[in-house]
Amino acid sequence: MVSLSRRAFAFGLPASSAATASVLSSGRLLAQEQSSHPNVFPPSAQFKIGRFTITALVDGYADMPFTYFPGHPAKETKDEASAMSAAKPGGIRFMFNQYLIDDGERLILIDTGPAGTLGQSGKLPAALAAIGVRPESIGAIIITHTHQDHIGGLVAGGLQNYPHSELYVDRRDIVYWTDPAKRASAPDYVQTSFALSADMVRLYPKLQAIDGERQISRGVSTVDLTGHTPGHIGVRIEDGGQSLIMASDMLFPVVHPSATDVFFLFEQDRPAAKAMRDKFYPRAAEEKALIAASHMPFPGLGRIVSESGTLRWLPAEWAYQD
Ligand SMILES: [Zn+2]
Repeated sequence: MVSLSRRAFAFGLPASSAATASVLSSGRLLAQEQSSHPNVFPPSAQFKIGRFTITALVDGYADMPFTYFPGHPAKETKDEASAMSAAKPGGIRFMFNQYLIDDGERLILIDTGPAGTLGQSGKLPAALAAIGVRPESIGAIIITHTHQDHIGGLVAGGLQNYPHSELYVDRRDIVYWTDPAKRASAPDYVQTSFALSADMVRLYPKLQAIDGERQISRGVSTVDLTGHTPGHIGVRIEDGGQSLIMASDMLFPVVHPSATDVFFLFEQDRPAAKAMRDKFYPRAAEEKALIAASHMPFPGLGRIVSESGTLRWLPAEWAYQD
């Protein structure tokens, strides 16, 4: 079980006027810059996987209507959410979690959030600033797929917001989400993802198309999780006998992992999404894999466990880590 540092859980702490720079590599987490909202400290959670320091950050959240989960009647989804105390008046709350990996040499960011295009979002820049990280100092970004809630921050405001970053995106998503014919026949609710994908390709000439599995740096590799989108990938972080798989949109709150035939509205190829969940969930349960998931309650860490043949999400326990 991963240990999560107590001092890393910085919910709601007021930014101190005596705040100083953070030192990611030593695990200290202090505010560097005063937020424009001095009483709101963006949440972050820092933990170790071997030599890697990983910081979970959040761009915001959105409440997804109960009707957004095809394969399951909306009323049942609402009842299940209510039974888990996860029901909000507007639906099921999706967090937009991002993960920043410090490998001692460079900072690697996984995903960039919707950046204001969905729900209450756009807080990633403030969350990075609060731990003393400027966008210019991020050396690489891995995009798990090019839905708007994962790439919005790359191009918010029509700008290249991470000017010194290498950018890794799966080739199948680049091809799909920049195809004019696919865009023309796609429903309204995915049009923003098509538009942002076009911006991403235009604004990041150094974008590198990857093919499923690739080592990004020693101990950090992408994993093919095609289904949710054609080029949906995860990121495996491994060192010193510890590992974490950032599984992006392999599972959503409330409806997963107890079923694999419940979908999210944005999934264009439901049989493919189901096939990967059928494969991934039992394997993750068997391996007791530590998982980071984009939309699970912050910081999105947990495991899939099997109880009497039913799979459920077990959040990672919080613990001291020194
Ligand atoms: Zn997503």
